[in-house]
Amino acid sequence: MKKAINHRIMRSNNKRQILEFIRKNGPSTKRGIAQKLGISITTVATFINELLNEDRITAFGNAASSGGRKSELYRLNPDSLYVIGVDLQVDRIIMLLINLQGEVLGVEEEKFNRSDEWEIASLLRQTITKICDSNKIPLAKISGIGIGVPGIVNHQTGIIEFAPNLGWKNVDLPMILPVDLPVIVENEAKAAAVGEATFGSAQGYANVIYVSLGLGIGTGLILNNNLFYGHNFLAGEFGHMAIVPNGLPCRCGKKGCWEVYASNNAALKLYQDYSGIELSSYDELLKALFKEDPIAIKVFAEIVNYLGLGIANLINGLNPEMIVIGGKITEADSLIHYQLLKVIKEKCFEYSYRGVSLQFSGLRNRATALGVGSLMIDSLLYN
Ligand SMILES: [Zn+2]
Repeated sequence: MKKAINHRIMRSNNKRQILEFIRKNGPSTKRGIAQKLGISITTVATFINELLNEDRITAFGNAASSGGRKSELYRLNPDSLYVIGVDLQVDRIIMLLINLQGEVLGVEEEKFNRSDEWEIASLLRQTITKICDSNKIPLAKISGIGIGVPGIVNHQTGIIEFAPNLGWKNVDLPMILPVDLPVIVENEAKAAAVGEATFGSAQGYANVIYVSLGLGIGTGLILNNNLFYGHNFLAGEFGHMAIVPNGLPCRCGKKGCWEVYASNNAALKLYQDYSGIELSSYDELLKALFKEDPIAIKVFAEIVNYLGLGIANLINGLNPEMIVIGGKITEADSLIHYQLLKVIKEKCFEYSYRGVSLQFSGLRNRATALGVGSLMIDSLLYN
């Protein structure tokens, strides 16, 4: 029986730091790496040898001499490792083929309308074959698969304990996926937080909150460079933070939860309340906003107000450096960014507001797949 791999971010790990340095800065010398990272040259030399033996880096000639000894340059071998990153949403799969450099070599998107876990596993398998074939990379060259899911994942076992929007309870996707490769599963917002911190707007930040807006609201927390899980892997369930005492009922059984007031579903419901018109999708609501439909404008003003209130609470409690907002709402960035910042500033403790940045996801719908792909790379390289 296959077992899901336990994984974690290990940004403080020297070997990872060295590999990341080479990935970001291109050809580098041992001395240059040691100086920039503040690590002893002996330690750098040890890990450079390990990375050479693993074929992750290659020698790349000599750096220009400045009178002293010539020093050898090392660069990444991006094609020494391929992984597949998957964002399993409620109605589609977004699959990326990623190399060690974090470059996306191929993309596949498959829609589905039934969410039986065996059928999804089979669809995932077909899509893996498709992405390998269309990029002419044999499956044998893929080292692992990371899957982001909209639900609660047991970080130790990889079991999806509860994914209400897929109708799943205790699903062991790595076990039923018919492919003989290491598989990791992660909550979609946690994965997206890693994606943003590794490849997106939050690169270089140690304390990041990713706010994922969809049917509900989920968040991924990176605290001191580590993905934060909490006691039962439930950290980040701010969608159920009470924001209106005795407010509207939530699907969780409680009342007044943040997601009932600020999620995409909340926006659609508001539009219906104000206009009597039931829009078929959130895309339609965005279209109405872009056409300056007065009801859509009113709906977004209200949503942004609650979104800002919730984010201000997160900033007050967690003191992050960067907030990244993801989901389809990113398309309306230019129309709501200023208003959102204004609300956050109004509601936030002044000292906490200073020094926090807010961005809408630049990775858009690739953040989750890139993030969980990056976790897979981490677990293959450093565990
Ligand atoms: Zn709730």
